[in-house]
Amino acid sequence: MTTHPTVTREQWLQQAILTLTPLFHTKGYTLPKCHVSCGFASTDVKRGHIGQCWGSKASADQINQIFISPALSDSVEVLDTLMHELVHAVDDCRNKHGPEFKKMALKLGMRGPMRNAEAGPELKIKLKELAITLGPYPHAKLYVPKKVIDRRPRARAKCSVCGFTVPMLKAFIHFGPPICPKDKIDMAAIGDWGES
Ligand SMILES: [Zn+2]
Ligand SMILES: [Zn+2]
Repeated sequence: MTTHPTVTREQWLQQAILTLTPLFHTKGYTLPKCHVSCGFASTDVKRGHIGQCWGSKASADQINQIFISPALSDSVEVLDTLMHELVHAVDDCRNKHGPEFKKMALKLGMRGPMRNAEAGPELKIKLKELAITLGPYPHAKLYVPKKVIDRRPRARAKCSVCGFTVPMLKAFIHFGPPICPKDKIDMAAIGDWGES
């Protein structure tokens, strides 16, 4: 059988989890049941999150929820990201990217800084093979602009003598920079003080 029946993105992703399960088993890890879908998990698109896993405590049915960014469409890239999120799921998102995460990730063949841990060369080959058996990911890449909001540096005041720095509240910006509590001199306005 080489034909792939029409599947939705979620069906493909669920199938992908089943396909990745043996990789976890051979290293002694059991995958919990996971919801998985294509979508933004947070509105923080600016930081370029490509995947996210929410722990069982965050979910009403106590099942981990994984989201794969719609900016990803390459099957291997999706599998790679899914693999990373599944490591969080095994850990139930308890240890972020700490030593426990790192231990598992390395054992599974992942490399790089843990925050962005991805498949090392050997695992990559396996993922490429698995991607062929899964067929193409039925999703059209979404072009998500990296920078959605123009982030101007917020208004702050800084003492030129001791370096003491405070953020300014918009409502009091017209008061001008405050006086340094230590040096009793006018602090300098830094960042964006423009009215908007
Ligand atoms: Zn992560
Ligand atoms: Zn000062």
